[in-house]
Amino acid sequence: MSTANQDLEAFRAEARAWLEENFPKSLAGRASEYMAMEGGKELTGEARTWVERLAERGWGTPTWPSEYGGGGLSASQAAVLQEEMRSAGAFNPIPLRAGMGVTMVGPTILEYGTEEQKQKHLPPIARGEVRWCLGYSEPNAGSDLASLSTRAEDAGDHWVINGQKVWTSGADISDWCGALVRTDPKAGKRDGISFLMFTMHQEGVETRPIRLISGASPFCETFFNNARADKTDLLGPLNDGWTVGKRLLQHERASQTGAMDTGGRPAPLQELAKRYVGTDESGQLADSDLRSRLATHLMESKAHSLTLSRVAAEARGNPNVSAAASILKNTATNVAQTRAELTLEVMGHQGLAWEGDGFTEEEVNAVQSWLFGKAMSIYGGSFEIQYNIIAKNILGLPETTQKG
Ligand SMILES: Cc1cc2nc3c(=O)[nH]c(=O)nc-3n(C[C@H](O)[C@H](O)[C@H](O)COP(=O)(O)OP(=O)(O)OC[C@H]3O[C@@H](n4cnc5c(N)ncnc54)[C@H](O)[C@@H]3O)c2cc1C
Repeated sequence: MSTANQDLEAFRAEARAWLEENFPKSLAGRASEYMAMEGGKELTGEARTWVERLAERGWGTPTWPSEYGGGGLSASQAAVLQEEMRSAGAFNPIPLRAGMGVTMVGPTILEYGTEEQKQKHLPPIARGEVRWCLGYSEPNAGSDLASLSTRAEDAGDHWVINGQKVWTSGADISDWCGALVRTDPKAGKRDGISFLMFTMHQEGVETRPIRLISGASPFCETFFNNARADKTDLLGPLNDGWTVGKRLLQHERASQTGAMDTGGRPAPLQELAKRYVGTDESGQLADSDLRSRLATHLMESKAHSLTLSRVAAEARGNPNVSAAASILKNTATNVAQTRAELTLEVMGHQGLAWEGDGFTEEEVNAVQSWLFGKAMSIYGGSFEIQYNIIAKNILGLPETTQKG
């Protein structure tokens, strides 16, 4: 065994022992339950103990530097930790508690932030104490994000923000916002934009949750009426927020490839199919057409996860988020949406569950996941926008009508 592998095995033993001692056994396998409970609420009991212990060790943000509250682990060690957490039935609640903090804003601060900004913002995110939302989309700026019109004016020692964002996930329960705003209205479309960070707990910020047909309100309309951002909370260069903002989106897409597993495993689809559809005398799934579509899906799913592993291995423990995240985001979306479609098909009329005694929890969850899965090809930049990025930035094809 090479020295690197020996080191990793030593780390595996360390992680296993730490989990054995620190992960409350009563929470084992309860990731989905925890996620449903999460929503800016005060945690109590063992859930709270687990968050505190994980935060103290820095393993909620395992690859962040330890001076900013992270675990200081290499990507390979973080992968081992993830495997050990999975086999202990453990999960990482910190990214959920921090909203957009761990997956998007934090990595962008690490790259573009001043030392003061890193010290101020990263440790509370790593502890899961401060929840962040992202103010990008506006009523007239979605895919064509550079059309955004929310503006920030220089008021000497601070910025004054006016305008409206929309689809701001978790805005009503967030503590801080990272937003793209126009700081030079006279500059070209993409040139006069800056990335500002500010607290949501101020008079000039109003959030109106958007109520969905399901009754849930995962996102908001967010209004800024003379909201304030400190001068020290401009992230990256003034008027070059477009570069900072695009980089954040690459981190967002990288977090949507299925590589960052926070825990929780659905039952294998082939078992579910055998259970609902039944088997023939040779033990195969009775419906041959479904069997062949299921096999295709399982192969595509395997190819996606092997590609993720290959990308991680080629990065040799030093992954650099790039435009390739757009490819993996789209394949992850395809795999997840196909899985959800097949699950409902397998369940037959039980796959029409919404509520009521006639349906199991598994059936209700399957329908909800199928519905929520539709959002995957919209958030973080739609399916078509990822293809545009792949065409332009990876394949080097000419610009489309959409610049971005
Ligand atoms: C669950 C969820 C959470 C979200 N959370 C946030 C958040 O926290 N913060 C935030 O700022 N935003 C958030 N969004 C908004 C999201 O980023 C936008 O919905 C997305 O960028 C698409 O913009 P749009 O809705 O305005 O659609 P549009 O831009 O109007 O697009 C409509 C359709 O046209 C297609 N289209 C548009 N332009 C092109 C083109 N040039 N080429 C080919 N096809 C094109 C799109 O693919 C899409 O199918 C969230 C969205 C969802 C669904």
